[in-house]
Amino acid sequence: MQLEVVAIGGYEEVGRNMTAVNIDGEIIIFDMGVRLDRIMIHEDTDISKMHSLNLIEMGVIPDDTVMKNIEGEVKAIVLTHGHLDHIGAITKLAHRYNAPIIGTPYTLELVKREILSEKKFDVRNPLITLENGNKLDLTANITLEFVKITHSIPDAAMAVLHTPYGAVVYGNDFKFDNFPVVGEKPDYKALKRIGKQGVIAMVSESTRVDFEGKTASEGVAANLLKNDLLGTDNEDNAVVVTTFSSHIARIKSITDIASKMGRIPVLVGRSMSKYCGIAQDIGLVKFPKETKICWDPSSIDKTFHQIMKDGKENYLMVVTGHQGEEGAVLSRMATNKTPFRFEKYDQVVFSADVIPNPMNAAQRYLLEARLNLAGVRLFKGAHVSGHAAKEDHRDILRWLQPEHLIPAHGDFNLTSAYAKLAEEEGFRLGEDVHLLRNGQSLKFERVI
Ligand SMILES: [Zn+2]
Repeated sequence: MQLEVVAIGGYEEVGRNMTAVNIDGEIIIFDMGVRLDRIMIHEDTDISKMHSLNLIEMGVIPDDTVMKNIEGEVKAIVLTHGHLDHIGAITKLAHRYNAPIIGTPYTLELVKREILSEKKFDVRNPLITLENGNKLDLTANITLEFVKITHSIPDAAMAVLHTPYGAVVYGNDFKFDNFPVVGEKPDYKALKRIGKQGVIAMVSESTRVDFEGKTASEGVAANLLKNDLLGTDNEDNAVVVTTFSSHIARIKSITDIASKMGRIPVLVGRSMSKYCGIAQDIGLVKFPKETKICWDPSSIDKTFHQIMKDGKENYLMVVTGHQGEEGAVLSRMATNKTPFRFEKYDQVVFSADVIPNPMNAAQRYLLEARLNLAGVRLFKGAHVSGHAAKEDHRDILRWLQPEHLIPAHGDFNLTSAYAKLAEEEGFRLGEDVHLLRNGQSLKFERVI
């Protein structure tokens, strides 16, 4: 048996995830993502028109030229969930492989949108939907199973390859949420069954492994939002909440609270309408029936005009721009580029952390300063992460008992923190827990 894990992207950074697993010459690729902070640096460029090699050079997408040196044939491209750091490079790389793209229904709907917006390459790989909890034979020797897990986007899967030698698990990204608001809790039974059957190797995210304890549930975020929105004297004022457009569970909580407040929920922004619209269309979520969704500039202006005319206190606006991004709706509202006007005692709730890079910090600072000047009340605590913390990782290691561990989706600080946890659980760095750089591969050989 020969098993090879190829670290293509996401092994030196948070973003541009891509890993290949080669089992006796049959290769399965996991994820093809972008690195979002690199896109921001080159903000004047439209990546939909750019060539893969330029984007590789800019560090935006994974450098898959390393695949030339890997002996074997790519049989499938497997996507775990719809975040752009996992699917955003599909349009730039997938056409180079004669293989189908496999994902859960929501993930594949988002992939279709990506393909439609691409202007440089024609991606014609077949798209195959695999529901969580189901299996699909990829070759005579390899079967893919999607295990239901929770994350900050619906329909996320942990991908498991069943091979004649044991299982290979790709867990990137996940959290263990027992009160997830939208969707069900993780399939712990399946994880324990797979552990009992035997796991040869696991590739795991490490984004939040340096946080002690367990990541709080989405149900906690819903209560924090209730506390901010129902527990504040805001009856006569505007209420605006900003969060991740793909965080459907969070947006569901916000819209439900809006209904409780007797306000009409209004989802504003291009990406807000894309992620929420698809989730509603495929039946993953049901927003209150009075919910309005608007995305193009003219309908956004019209809606804000209406809100100002009817009285801001009748609506609850959910908008893009939690990082202070210049072109996003919240920044445009704060700089009077829409018909909306902030006034003293209006309420803005940031239901998201600042993604820690200096550019975001600067943009958020500017946005908050502008809102403060207008006398707006700012609320920032209502958020929980979508990534497993240290004790969540310890649980999955105990259930799966993998023979080899490869931490991914982090810089060396994070992958090292994961290795440290693994050593606490009896693994040894260099023996059965392995730190890889982008472009490196690891071979396990054994006689069966
Ligand atoms: Zn993710």
